[in-house]
Amino acid sequence: MKTGLITSDTYQNHNTGDGHPEKIDRVTAVIDNFKKIDNKELLWKKPAKFDQSFLINTHSTDYINKVSKSFPENGLAFLDGDTVVSPGSKEATKDAVGSIITAIDGVQQKEFKNAFCVVRPPGHHAEKDKAMGFCIYNNVAVGANYLIDRYKYSKVAIIDFDVHHGNGTQDIFYNNKKVLYISTHQFPFYPGSGNENEKGMYNNIFNIPLPAGTTSEEYLNAYEFVLKKLKEFKPEFILLSAGFDAHKDDPLAQFQLESKDFYTLTKRTLELSKLFCNGKVVSILEGGYDLLALQESTQKHVEALIEFN
Ligand SMILES: [Zn+2]
Repeated sequence: MKTGLITSDTYQNHNTGDGHPEKIDRVTAVIDNFKKIDNKELLWKKPAKFDQSFLINTHSTDYINKVSKSFPENGLAFLDGDTVVSPGSKEATKDAVGSIITAIDGVQQKEFKNAFCVVRPPGHHAEKDKAMGFCIYNNVAVGANYLIDRYKYSKVAIIDFDVHHGNGTQDIFYNNKKVLYISTHQFPFYPGSGNENEKGMYNNIFNIPLPAGTTSEEYLNAYEFVLKKLKEFKPEFILLSAGFDAHKDDPLAQFQLESKDFYTLTKRTLELSKLFCNGKVVSILEGGYDLLALQESTQKHVEALIEFN
């Protein structure tokens, strides 16, 4: 089976303003690279039509209404200091959510074996009631709730290897024993959360804070704890909050990972998944702000997804 690559053009109309790091070119760089490589093992697909019901277990009704009304008719509007929306953000946010739904359905229906969603805005900083850190809806959290509601899974793991802590995902699942959330991140750092004593009501949150300057070797050693936790939890499905801003060239953070490290960590996760969910993995783009590093790293990540059999 092939690997799904879920994307649409609507991200191009999510304008965050001049000089904003979470810019249109990020996704364009990734998409152009995959078009150029033209790997026949990739099955390109557009996101499903968005349904508001996808959001209801992840975000509060007040918040959903607030976001719906926030999209300006022209110019830009701010949901927080660095979370910007423009008229086109309405469709882009819907497609970002729709992409993870399409990816999950595709894996469940054996249309493809695993998938990578190339979308923006990202999601992991968005809390139940709050937009934050370039994130509006928490795409990966919507995916986890969809797996639980639609497919009746009771053990879903979210691994977040973005260099920032996914405070939003942690917030949404803090009291939910069906979801194991594991994050590796630079600490202390934005957004401030992610201390190892934040464990969730059911010990279902596992934070691995690492200092600025963390090298590939140190990171991959720490990732062994991620794999150990996964092994204990035995998830039925794995979602990846795939940020690539832990790369050494990333302008927003201070880890020292190389592009190939994203192959290694993906490969190790998939191999381990044979023990409990046999490669049922859906990955979605979070951060990553150096365009060349982002192209290379996503390519490595997807190579590992394609290789899995
Ligand atoms: Zn990040």
